[in-house]
Amino acid sequence: MTTNGRELTACKTCELIARRDAGDAPMWDAIHRTDHWDLVHAYNSSLPGWLVLVARRHIAALADLNAAEAAELGPLIQKVSAALHEVTGCHKTYLAQFAEHPDHPHVHLHLVARRLDDPPETRGPAVFAYIDDATRPLVDGARMNDLARRLQAALQRR
Ligand SMILES: [Zn+2]
Repeated sequence: MTTNGRELTACKTCELIARRDAGDAPMWDAIHRTDHWDLVHAYNSSLPGWLVLVARRHIAALADLNAAEAAELGPLIQKVSAALHEVTGCHKTYLAQFAEHPDHPHVHLHLVARRLDDPPETRGPAVFAYIDDATRPLVDGARMNDLARRLQAALQRR
């Protein structure tokens, strides 16, 4: 696959963008699409309301954002955070960006609903315990789709 003039050996993030472009993604994987960003629910989270903002262009580092991508990002973070508060009743939202996973070397921001009653040992960076955790069940597709529908409605009101 060639994106942005670069040869990619494997970028699962780009594969998921192509699936959205083809109209084949489940609702939870295409909650909201802007010119430069896709909003999705994480597929490997056991915490409901773990959202991901994905750059629609393959870039590996935040420094590679162009002006239009950067301009859209700030307001989007605020809008999605407000929608998450409204839909989940969360206490605050967390924001993290690494793009270090071998399957996802592509700029994506984790935007996570942190509930008031989440235990102290899962707060801050430790919230990543909810990703790929074999001891906790993943949020199922029906629950993610329900959240997606309510988030879409909340985003439309903003
Ligand atoms: Zn990519």
